[in-house]
Amino acid sequence: MLGRQKVHARLFYEFDLETHIPSDHLLRGIDRFLNLEGLHEEVRDFYSHTGRPSLDPELMIRMLVIGYVMGLRSERRLCQEVHLNLAFRWFCRLGLEDKVPDHSSFSKLRHGKFRDSDIFRVVFEHVVAQCIAHGLVGGQGFAVDASLISADVQKQSSSRQDKWDASAIDPKDAPRAVREYLDTLDAEAFGAATPVQPKFTAYADPASQWTAARKGPAFFAYSDNYLIDTDHGIIMDVEATRSVRQAEVGSTLTMLDRTAKCFGIRPDWLAEDTAYGSEASLVEIVLKRKILPFTPVIDKGERTDGTLSRSDFAWDEENDRYICPEGKDLRHARRNYSDPARLSSETKPRRYRAAKADCQSCHLKAQCCPSSETRSLQRGKFEIVRDFARTCTASPFNETAMRRRKKVEMLFAHLKRILGLTRLRLRGPLGVKDEFGLLASSDGRD
Ligand code: SF4
Repeated sequence: MLGRQKVHARLFYEFDLETHIPSDHLLRGIDRFLNLEGLHEEVRDFYSHTGRPSLDPELMIRMLVIGYVMGLRSERRLCQEVHLNLAFRWFCRLGLEDKVPDHSSFSKLRHGKFRDSDIFRVVFEHVVAQCIAHGLVGGQGFAVDASLISADVQKQSSSRQDKWDASAIDPKDAPRAVREYLDTLDAEAFGAATPVQPKFTAYADPASQWTAARKGPAFFAYSDNYLIDTDHGIIMDVEATRSVRQAEVGSTLTMLDRTAKCFGIRPDWLAEDTAYGSEASLVEIVLKRKILPFTPVIDKGERTDGTLSRSDFAWDEENDRYICPEGKDLRHARRNYSDPARLSSETKPRRYRAAKADCQSCHLKAQCCPSSETRSLQRGKFEIVRDFARTCTASPFNETAMRRRKKVEMLFAHLKRILGLTRLRLRGPLGVKDEFGLLASSDGRD
C-alpha cells in the first residue's frame, strides 16, 4: 500500500541539540580544543564599559571557524548556513530560536576590535595551551615548513616592477591592503626580507609575492609557516610571511622564540628541509638556541660533474688544514707571517689551497682541478656548525626526524584538500595573518 507522511501540527517540541550531533562530527573534535572561556577577559579592555552589549566575540569566532572548516567563503552564506544547520548552531552555542548575527558584522569587527585586540592570536594560543594540558605536546622534536597559498589577486591587475613606484602612493587614498603593505616595508617577514624585487606587483595586494613552486607556473602568494610538535602534529606556532626564502627562514626563529616565551617549550631537535640549511640559519639554531638541527646543509661545494666534491676532503681541525684524497695538505697560509693582519680575517671565509707542486704531479688532477693549477676550498667562520649539522643528518636518528617532519606536510595537504584553502579570502599582511591564525586554530588536532 502506498504510504503517505502525516503532518502533525505540534505546539511544543522537546528538543535537545546536543543529542542530535554525532559523536564523530568534525565540529565535535574541534570543539574539544576550542575552549574560549578566557577570551572575554582578554578582550574586555577593547570594548566600552557603557552602551548596548556588543555581539559576543566567542560567537563570531565560532562562526568564522565554521566558515573556514566547511569551506564557506561568503559570510552572507555562512550566516544562512548557521541559521539552518543544527550542528553549526550547536557549535556556536545558539539555541533553535536564537538569532544569527548579520553578515555585515564580520567585516566591521575584523578591521576594528578583532584587529586591535589581536583576537585570532589569543584564540590560537588558547588552543595550543589546551593541547599541552591534554598531554598532546611532547616538546622534544619540532618540525618547520612553509606552504604557498594563492593571494586574492589576479595577474591581470598587476604591473611590472619598473612601473611600480611605492613612493608615489598616498596612504590616505590607498586601500587598506596597500596601507598595510606600506606599513610592513621595514618588517623582516615582509618588505625587508630581501632586497630582490619581484617581477610583478599586484595593485590590490602589493605585499603578496609573485612566485612559482617547483618550477610550476608563477602566481601571487603568501607563505603559511608552521612550527609543529612532531609527537601528534600539533601546530605550536604559525606565521604569515612573504613567499621568499629569507622571510620563511626568519619566521622559524620568530616562532621558536615565541613558543619558548609563551609556553616555556624549547625543543631538543628541529627537522627542516634544505631551504633552511644556510649557515646563518644553522648558527641561530645550534649556537644561539642549542637545538640539534636535522637539516640538510646548503652546500655549494658539492659537485655533480664527476669532479671531486668538498666532502672528498677531510678537515683537520687541530692543524687547521684540509687533507685531499691523495693525502696532501690544503692550507690557507703556508708561511708564518710576523704581521697577523696579513692572514685572512677570522670573520671572513678562508680559502685553503693545495701546493702547486703536489697538484701538478697528481694523477687525480683531471678529476680534482681540471681548469686551475691547484685545488682550493673555501671555509666559512662557522663551517664547524655546518659540519655539526652534517653529523646530525648522517646519524641514524635522521631517518626518524625526517619521517616525523612529514607531519607538517600532511597538515598543509589537509589545509588545502580538506579545508579547501586554495586561495586566500583576505588581503594585506594583517588579513593574511588573521586567516592563517584562525585556520591553524582549527586544524592539526589528532
Ligand atoms: S690534484 Fe692536488 S688537491 Fe687534488 S687530489 Fe691531487 S694533490 Fe690533492
